[in-house]
Amino acid sequence: MSKLPNVTASIFSVMSQLANEHGAINLSQGFPNFPVDERLLQLSEQLQRENIHQYTPMAGLPSLLEKIARLTLEQYKRKVNIATEMLITAGATQGIFTAINTFVGKGDEVIILDPSYDSYEPSVLVAGGTPVRISLNDDYSPNFNRIEAALSPKTRMIVINNPHNPTGKIWNLADFEAFETLIEKYPNVLILSDEVYEYIAFLHPHISFHTRPKLVDRTIIASSFGKSLHVTGWKVGYLIAPEKWMAEMKKVHQFLVFSVNSFAQHAISAYLDVVDFGAISEMYLQKRDLFQSLLKNSRFELLPCDGTYFQVVNYKNISHKNDVVFAKELIVKHGVAAIPISVFYNDSTDRQMLRFCFAKTDETLLAAAEKLSVI
Ligand code: PMP
Ligand code: GLN
Repeated sequence: MSKLPNVTASIFSVMSQLANEHGAINLSQGFPNFPVDERLLQLSEQLQRENIHQYTPMAGLPSLLEKIARLTLEQYKRKVNIATEMLITAGATQGIFTAINTFVGKGDEVIILDPSYDSYEPSVLVAGGTPVRISLNDDYSPNFNRIEAALSPKTRMIVINNPHNPTGKIWNLADFEAFETLIEKYPNVLILSDEVYEYIAFLHPHISFHTRPKLVDRTIIASSFGKSLHVTGWKVGYLIAPEKWMAEMKKVHQFLVFSVNSFAQHAISAYLDVVDFGAISEMYLQKRDLFQSLLKNSRFELLPCDGTYFQVVNYKNISHKNDVVFAKELIVKHGVAAIPISVFYNDSTDRQMLRFCFAKTDETLLAAAEKLSVI
């Protein structure tokens, strides 16, 4: 018996492969196509000659843990204990999987807010738990009535993704306050906060669960250097959680991967001394504005994008075909790849929406927009 009998290849693999086959401009899978910072490349070249190629300590390279702790203090005024509250993971994906598989078992329910990132539900299913998927509001803000209705004595965890993939929505202070009032009544529910886009927020600075004292004691925060440093292929992420939860996750982590790529940890650790996280949002804001202005006169309707590097569009003025069919057509006939939004839901509703990744060079965005503007 398999744990995931109904799972097929992820939409990100499918669309990237199709884009390659047809020579289409790939705005589907979320990864930057601009060069990695020269300083990171230089540090990597220097480091590869050093004696850094064996296992790091299980929980992560100590200097990297220290620098993440420093960053968390600077950004969010939270003091994290390096020895007991942190874990370097093989990307946020493994962090999320580890968190879910440490605490969720048979009979446990996990609330997931749709549209949702594709790894949450399978991680719950492998753990033997039951995903409870409920929809966000039409503007993709959290719907607290639906969350309340979904909470039950069986609820073990709720997964929050902010800034949100695919919609680019970010939580505001009122969302946090409403959530705090609600979740107070359910003290046994753990929160898994996926904040991989924490440094890409445009509307207002990202509000992290790190800064919410009422929630932080039962929150596991996942982040990823893939997103923050434009190195998705390096697969280095991390979890931060109070010792009580972290001690248990480390037990699972040590038999899932034991430790993470030493070379990438060393290079990231050195780079964290020089990189400016403040500049990341600014750079992506310019890309968002460029992409939006290029599509302004097209027949695509642009939805708001307050964070992340994804722009969602509605194409109901162009076609009424469902978005999976339309996305494939867009590659084959028009040479641009996107992700259909319906794959982030677990229902069969027809949607006419696509997600474009604008983490691309300006030339790529211009070339894609030229094609999209004549449809
Ligand atoms: N969560 C979200 C919301 C994502 O978009 C992604 C993909 N980048 C991940 C988790 C996984 O991150 P990583 O590539 O570090 O595993
Ligand atoms: N997170 C990326 C996205 O949303 C994809 C990661 C992956 O391919 N698994 O596009």
